[in-house]
Amino acid sequence: MKKIITLICVFALAGCTLYQDHQLNIYNPERITKKEFGTYVEPGNSPVEPEVFIGYHTAIDFETFEDEQDVEVPVYAICNGPLVVNRWAQGYGGVIVQSCKINGMDVTVVYGHLDLSSVPLKDNFKFGEFLGYLGDAYSYETDNERKHLHLGIHKGSEINLLGYVQDPTELENWINPWEIVNLTIN
Ligand SMILES: [Zn+2]
Repeated sequence: MKKIITLICVFALAGCTLYQDHQLNIYNPERITKKEFGTYVEPGNSPVEPEVFIGYHTAIDFETFEDEQDVEVPVYAICNGPLVVNRWAQGYGGVIVQSCKINGMDVTVVYGHLDLSSVPLKDNFKFGEFLGYLGDAYSYETDNERKHLHLGIHKGSEINLLGYVQDPTELENWINPWEIVNLTIN
């Protein structure tokens, strides 16, 4: 039944109760409370303490609500395309990268801090399809980060896992994910 509702949501795009339910909508704008696209952080000067990173955030972090710490929080594909990365990486824990075309442009989409054991074993994912659950807070699955989704969109087909860049002009190689997510999902 959930699958049918998801399909309806994908086709209806707007006004969908499934995506309006905060438990199920990872892309709810109320989740963007810490790091936006381009936010500069360093230890001692960050909305996240303790901070281990330095630089300009290439992504948006979607936080989890207090009542979601012990429940599975699903992550959905924001575009159509195959997974080109599905592995553990320092700073992320589980990370997957989807290769897509968005508005005619080749991009790679980084979904960070996932529980890799929940990622379906298939290569191609359609917009709105389940990609996996967020990893548990402060665990191997998130490389000891809080439970949240790091969503980055890098321009071009080259894989780039950088969560931060040191020069703000390098942000030009990335797309603000909110421009895509807000238009297509919310
Ligand atoms: Zn992040």
